[in-house]
Parts: sequence; C-alpha cells; structure tokens
Amino acid sequence: MAGLYIHIPYCHSKCIYCDFYSTPRRDTHDDYVSSLLTEYDLRYSEIKEKWTTIYIGGGTPSVIPMPALNRLIDGIKERIDASCIEEWTIEANPEDVTGLWVQNVVSRGISRVSLGIQSFNDKELAFVKRVHSASKAIDAIELLRENGISEISGDLIYGLPGQSFENWKYSLGKLLSLGLPHFSAYLLSYENGTRLYAMLQRGKIEELSEDEACERYHYLCDCAHQAGYEHYEISNFSLPGHNAIHNSNYWSGKPYLGLGVSAHSFDGRIRRYNGNDIKGYITSISRREVCCVVENETDNERHNDYVITALRTSRGIDIDEYRHLWGEYMYSRLIKLSQSYLQSKMMLLQDGRLMISELSMLISDRIMVDFII
Ligand code: SF4
Repeated sequence: MAGLYIHIPYCHSKCIYCDFYSTPRRDTHDDYVSSLLTEYDLRYSEIKEKWTTIYIGGGTPSVIPMPALNRLIDGIKERIDASCIEEWTIEANPEDVTGLWVQNVVSRGISRVSLGIQSFNDKELAFVKRVHSASKAIDAIELLRENGISEISGDLIYGLPGQSFENWKYSLGKLLSLGLPHFSAYLLSYENGTRLYAMLQRGKIEELSEDEACERYHYLCDCAHQAGYEHYEISNFSLPGHNAIHNSNYWSGKPYLGLGVSAHSFDGRIRRYNGNDIKGYITSISRREVCCVVENETDNERHNDYVITALRTSRGIDIDEYRHLWGEYMYSRLIKLSQSYLQSKMMLLQDGRLMISELSMLISDRIMVDFII
C-alpha cells in the first residue's frame, strides 16, 4: 500500500496567509505536466508497494487547463495498475468547478475532491484574497454531487483577522449543514514571509488570544461531534468510514512518492524532497536528472517523525509497536514522560495506545516537544 502525490504549484493569485510555493504564471503548464510524467518514470521504482491512493494537490490543481490536466491523469493511468486505486483525490478552488470540469475528472477515475472553501463569509474571503465567493462554494458542492462525486472534503480556516466568534459559528454551521463526508478546519497561522505576517508585524491586524482560539476550537469539536463526525487528526473530521485514506497513510508511516516541485517522498526509510524552482525542475527533468534532495535522517530524527505523526492523530502511539521499534529504554522514557500528561488528562492511554486528548490537540505542539529527542 503506497501513495502517489502530484504537486501542482499554480494558483489564481496569492492568498495573504499562504507560505506554500505557488505561482499565478501559466506559461509552463504543459512542460510541467510532461516533467511530472517523466519524473514518475525516473522514480517510480523507489517505492516497492502498489499504489493504492493518488492525491493531486497544490497550489490549485484545478487552475490547470483541462487538456493539460487530462494528459496528466491519462499519463499516470497508463503507468499504474488503476484497479488497485482506492482513492484518487484532486484539490479544487470552488471558482474552477463547472459541470464540464467535474464530468471530465469523474470520467477519468477521480473519486474525491477537496475544496478550498475557507469561509462562508464573502468579506473574509476577499480580505485574504481568495478568488471565490461563499455562494460559489455551495454551487461547487452541488455540481460535484450532481455529477457523481460524493466524496467531498471542504477546508475551513478559523481565527481570521476580524472574524468574530459569530462569523466562525456561521461558517462552521453552514459547512456542517451541507453534510460533507469530510472536512478540515485549520487555525490560521502567521507564517513569516506572508503578507498576513507583515500586517501583524505592522500592527494592522491582531492575532487571536490563546483563550479565544481555544474557545473556537472547542466549539468546533462540540459541533462536529453533534453532527456525527469523528475527529481523527488535529485538523481533520470525517463521518464514519470517510477518513482521507491518502493522508491517513502519511500519518501511519506508509510510503509515498511525491512528484513535482516542493513534493516530499518517503520510501519507508529515506525521506526525499524536491526544490522550489519550477524552471529548474523542468530543466533537470528534461535532462532525465532527478533533482530531489535526500534527507539523511538520524535515528533520533526518525524517532521524532514517528512520534509527531502518531500524536497528531486520534489513534496516537501504539505503545507495543513503539517498544518494538525503539527499545526498552525509550519505551520506559515514553511511559515516564506521559505520566503528568495522563494525570492532567491532556493525554489518554486506551487499548494500548497513547494519545493526546481532543481538547489538548490545539496545543499538541507543546506536548510533542517533550516526547522528541
Ligand atoms: S490557493 Fe492555496 S496554495 Fe494557492 S495561494 Fe491560496 S492557500 Fe496558497
């Protein structure tokens, strides 16, 4: 079981909170798609397992013109055993979702769409420079359903500048009323280098206090549970049986190959990542040179990756597996370190698994720090 990730680094414009590598330029779409297919040919053998999930993410994959997108999807299908694919996701901006677009991706085997909704308040969307409106997001969901896509995920952001608690309640309520099988809700983070960060530094906007962030997060958890969702990862919620398989495999340490600029790969032992330069990527792939950087992880770094990915999920760490992988000394350390968190109920030990409690997930970074080496 392995995942194939394909990164599309193009967007309509730059959202002010985003620190991902992306560009609005469109002159390289065709060459980029050709490079992705060639990179697959050069690197597929890094992963020995069969592909069971494919995820086309970005950036905004739906900005790619249909002929180029079709060439990518068809090219990948020619190279893999498509009968083994359990989930094939593409991310989309609601603005790009038309009946024709949905029919096209459905006819090519895509089974799941992740929509960047972010908010159902048009002022908030305009402030962060999203190109779509709230009504476009609702239309997109209708179009997806009408044309055969039921596995839909929606992203929301909370803690946006100027977003009152009432506005957050409205956006969350609207999303839940749509009954999507899956959604992700992220607390806004201020990343150095973004326009939003600069606005914060200049005092033009204010960050939520920790108490306000917790209030919104607790409201989110309560509402999601009442609506029947499982909170299975820090920011991810699903109706029973609708977890994102591709992303869940990342969090359980399964191998994946990442194609395209800034994509990461993990073959079960070694992590690799591609650089952030589209032109450089196209040039080196055209010479059939793989341009990824190999991360020579130490045992400690491997341990830390294991702990961090496990603790972000509601499944947590399987303590027998941990003992087997990292030895008796580390196991004793894990148990000792967890005691105060267990007493304060910030962590739980259930059925042989050590996990961060749901209400403490928002500050999971601070807890994880104690468990890494
Ligand atoms: S659409 Fe997504 S990747 Fe593109 S700029 Fe906005 S947040 Fe970043």
